[in-house]
Amino acid sequence: MRTIGLIGGMSWESTLLYYQWINRGVRERRGPLHSARLLIDSLDFSEIAAWQRQGDWSAAGAALADSARRLEAGGAQCIVLATNTMHKVADQVISATTLPFLHIADPTGAAIRDAGLDTVLLLGTAFTMEEDFYRSRLAGRHGIRCLLPSASQREQVHRVIYDELCAGIVSEASREMFRRIVVDAVSAGAQGVILGCTEVGLLLQQQHSPVRLFDTAALHAVAAVDFALGG
Ligand code: GLU
Repeated sequence: MRTIGLIGGMSWESTLLYYQWINRGVRERRGPLHSARLLIDSLDFSEIAAWQRQGDWSAAGAALADSARRLEAGGAQCIVLATNTMHKVADQVISATTLPFLHIADPTGAAIRDAGLDTVLLLGTAFTMEEDFYRSRLAGRHGIRCLLPSASQREQVHRVIYDELCAGIVSEASREMFRRIVVDAVSAGAQGVILGCTEVGLLLQQQHSPVRLFDTAALHAVAAVDFALGG
């Protein structure tokens, strides 16, 4: 089994899920007492979030690159960056080590294509929804078109992610708001929904949506298990 290197803490609410899903995946495939060989380098999200707000992505990228180097020095054999937003600085992380980098958008894109879909709603932070780094990967490598919530809905989604989900708060009112955003997008042509923030699965589960949900954190965890057990 190969050792997974996970850059976590962004937020730890979803890092916890990665840890659980990766270990469950290894158990399901290898047997009841098997668990993942896994290093987690867990960062203080408040520092990262401050750099995001200030637009200092190179400082955030440098912190993540240091994290990747610590994982490599500790024996990790791949890098899993457990947040969609911080894939904005994926290149800085990739160039910090010699390890394979498992990009979160790739298992997501593959799952959407496997389901026979090509037009989906993207829910995530404002950075992930509005900037090019994430949607262009899905479009260029997977042929997927992302629909976005309206500007005011995007603001609300962004706020709920930082003020509630990353702080461990799961509210019914926010769930209802997300549910309405999904319904609006389905009438605009969305065939599925990307939970493009690793915490959104805490709020929105399949029973809350008339179309299929693609949880990036869960799909990324499966990709990590594939890497660990493959080859
Ligand atoms: N975990 C979130 C994501 O997947 C948001 C936190 C962050 O900005 O990293 O984008």
